[in-house]
Amino acid sequence: MKKNSKTFCILPWMHVSTSPSGNLRVCCNGDFNKNFILNSDGSPYKIYKDDLKKAWHAPFYKKIRWQMLDGQRPEMCAPCFREEEACSESPRTRYNQKYMFDYEPSETPPFHIKYIDLRLGNKCNLRCRMCNPYVSNSMLREWEELSKRNLSQFIRPLSQNEKKKFKNLSWPEKMDFSKFLQLMQYVEEIYLTGGEPLLIQEQYDLLEQIIQKGFASNISLKYNTNLTKYDFKIGHLWKHFKKIHLHISIDGFGKLNDYIRYPSQWTQIENNLKEMISLNEKLSNMAFRIDCTVQMYNITSMTDLLWWVKKQNLDLYLNILDTPKFLNIRVLPDELKKKARESLLPFQKDFPVKKIIDYMERESWMDYLDDFFHWTDFFDKSRNQNLNDVLPELSACRSA
Ligand code: SF4
Repeated sequence: MKKNSKTFCILPWMHVSTSPSGNLRVCCNGDFNKNFILNSDGSPYKIYKDDLKKAWHAPFYKKIRWQMLDGQRPEMCAPCFREEEACSESPRTRYNQKYMFDYEPSETPPFHIKYIDLRLGNKCNLRCRMCNPYVSNSMLREWEELSKRNLSQFIRPLSQNEKKKFKNLSWPEKMDFSKFLQLMQYVEEIYLTGGEPLLIQEQYDLLEQIIQKGFASNISLKYNTNLTKYDFKIGHLWKHFKKIHLHISIDGFGKLNDYIRYPSQWTQIENNLKEMISLNEKLSNMAFRIDCTVQMYNITSMTDLLWWVKKQNLDLYLNILDTPKFLNIRVLPDELKKKARESLLPFQKDFPVKKIIDYMERESWMDYLDDFFHWTDFFDKSRNQNLNDVLPELSACRSA
């Protein structure tokens, strides 16, 4: 049993993660619902009420570590192995590269966490077309409507209890963040997301406590944000931290982004980005990256975004949407795949577009095209938008 086993991943030795509902997870990259750290009664440990150390040494967690050392693939890690088969890298390979040599893995590792991933609930002001109410409470009404439509194989109707819960998953309100301070002497990175993390006020309490205890200068904060709103006072806290990584979710240029990430406004995002860049002129500890989820709604118009990112001199991360399947780029008809390939290839020196093309062309999932249009029509009607206004070529693929 060693860390050079083919299925080894360093994260279960140095990482702790939560879901938006506050369940403790082995890792956020794992299969949803299979990555919770389970108690002996089968229920997930909760960050806001359970002993973190107990979860860390839970038999469920030990088994995952043992499987990795033994060359087995834990069931929850399927997305990483899928990604590696498609593009030869994954969160597993990236974290192994970064942290592998810092730890000597055993089945009972010390409680030395370097990387914390906090999903701060589901409060979000946007309703992105590929999202769901578990991650954005603003999606709840449309989701309820959707579950009555002919997409029922993809949408499970929510129970009364879930409807109530998803109105606001707000575990940070119940959290005593001081119990986190015991971890901070080893922590190097905290990843904050949501929902929309810049809307979650409770994070100020956590950041202030970290600053007061003198840990901030060793810790980098990483945000996944839609950058539509933020509180100016956050700069006073950020200046104490080692580094602030802002990963800004943008899925298209201009009105295409507004279409996908409704009801965002492109001009507002551009203004906020300018303000953040000038904040960094004072703080000098910020780094910016555009995170784009590559999907049916943007693959054929990706070049507009690529030009913009290049002009802004920003980093770009292209994340291929896996599910729902009908939004995956493999659904695109062959003729449009060919056009997408031709438009993307000139950018291969600047961005990793080749891996996107290879992934897209490896399989055809055109059988899902009707589902794609059902989904699109529903949101178009609900939001008074029209696919034809932003993606006329894709709109024209609709069967008569
Ligand atoms: S293999 Fe992937 S899913 Fe599994 S723990 Fe590592 S990063 Fe997470």
